[in-house]
Amino acid sequence: MQSALNQSDIYKDRAHRKYFSDMKKLFDYVYDIIDVLGMSLFGNIEKLRVHKLYNIDPKMLSAIIETKLEHYFSGFECPLCGCKCRHNNKLKRHIETTYGTISFDSPYYKCKNCDKFYEPYVSALNIRKGKYQYDVQKIVAKVASSVPFDETAEILYDTHGLSLSQATVHELTNELAAHARLEEISPEAATIHEIIEQATRPNKARPVLVFAADGAMSPTRTEKGKPNAWKEAKGIRVYLLDGQHLAQVLSWHQICDKHRFKSFLQQIKQQNLFPEDKVRICCIGDGAGWIWEAMEEAFPDARQILDYYHCQEHIHEFANARFADKAARDKWLRETTNRLFQNKLSSVLAGLRRMKLTGEAAEKRDALCSYLSKNKDRMDYGKAKRGGYPLGSGAIESANKFISHIRLKRSGAWWKVDLANNILALRCSRYNKSFDRFFAAYEKSQRQDLGPARPHLSLCQGAGRK
Ligand SMILES: [Zn+2]
Repeated sequence: MQSALNQSDIYKDRAHRKYFSDMKKLFDYVYDIIDVLGMSLFGNIEKLRVHKLYNIDPKMLSAIIETKLEHYFSGFECPLCGCKCRHNNKLKRHIETTYGTISFDSPYYKCKNCDKFYEPYVSALNIRKGKYQYDVQKIVAKVASSVPFDETAEILYDTHGLSLSQATVHELTNELAAHARLEEISPEAATIHEIIEQATRPNKARPVLVFAADGAMSPTRTEKGKPNAWKEAKGIRVYLLDGQHLAQVLSWHQICDKHRFKSFLQQIKQQNLFPEDKVRICCIGDGAGWIWEAMEEAFPDARQILDYYHCQEHIHEFANARFADKAARDKWLRETTNRLFQNKLSSVLAGLRRMKLTGEAAEKRDALCSYLSKNKDRMDYGKAKRGGYPLGSGAIESANKFISHIRLKRSGAWWKVDLANNILALRCSRYNKSFDRFFAAYEKSQRQDLGPARPHLSLCQGAGRK
């Protein structure tokens, strides 16, 4: 019995030593990664993820962060007057991260001359005001851009053990999204140039850069007492067309009027994202006036194409009213389509005008003539097809679905316009693959300004950066 017990103690001790030796190795590894001088807390957490360290004990992180800060920083000089500040007291800081609660003692200082308080650790780590830190905000906003706020809270609880209320999810998401302006979430020019470079073939026509625009109706909330209403989210999707292959470049969707949409297109133009001499620019739309107006202002030389399928819908609508006989209808449709592909719109229009019609058929004919005349320069489908241009606006219609409808059109959901636009902006940043870059810039911009510059944190004697 005695010897069996000893034997089991030996094994327990062996396990113990093995575990602590592994833990020590992990501790040393993490200790070397954490850099409180060069990076914010968010930056450090991102770096841990790059090293695939997803499950670090928050107590380990607390100990490393606190002692590193103690090691590096001693006295504190007021950033305004430069005088040595008196060490007043320490605050116990508890902050919530995706690794759990990180706690540390944070000294704060008072400058008597300036009557100001400073908390240098908070500034060095760029601690977010409030309980939740930027890494939490990042994942919350990302998930909330895909699923409703209550589901986001549930997912974050299941995956990270975070008990977030719906209101907190709402707040964290919208606070970030308010910064997601078009220029923040556009891809970088270098990335776009690379896409264009890859699609360029020697001795072949330049690739086609398509601006596809369309509206998607979104459920919006109105002021008190008024019924909810559907408003149009105007979307633009820019993509490169290389034969059948479509390479996503930029998406931007917002609920707005045509003037705002125009200003968005101007902004896209002003960012100089596209080398206009290396592509052939075209714009495709369903015939809505705001699309052509905005496009003509921003890219007057772009080839405009009326979505072929929308055009067909109008033609069919008339044909159904005009021809009772199916064979006659189909024959007319065939001939009309052939004429359109041969760029013989004038003969289609002349034929329509010659028809002796009354009632509904006459009305539909007049509407069709007006639609075709208005878009007469946008329907050379044969030439467009031979030139490798798109004929249909399916790419923007599918963008409407996956950017707008999937998130905004939930049963019972009626959105305040600015909140819907926030979600749309975040979703666009994800489809533009700019979300990480945008978030990093946002976190950096939130550094609290403690004076003319970052507080001067003087190093301890003999202590240096490892
Ligand atoms: Zn001072």
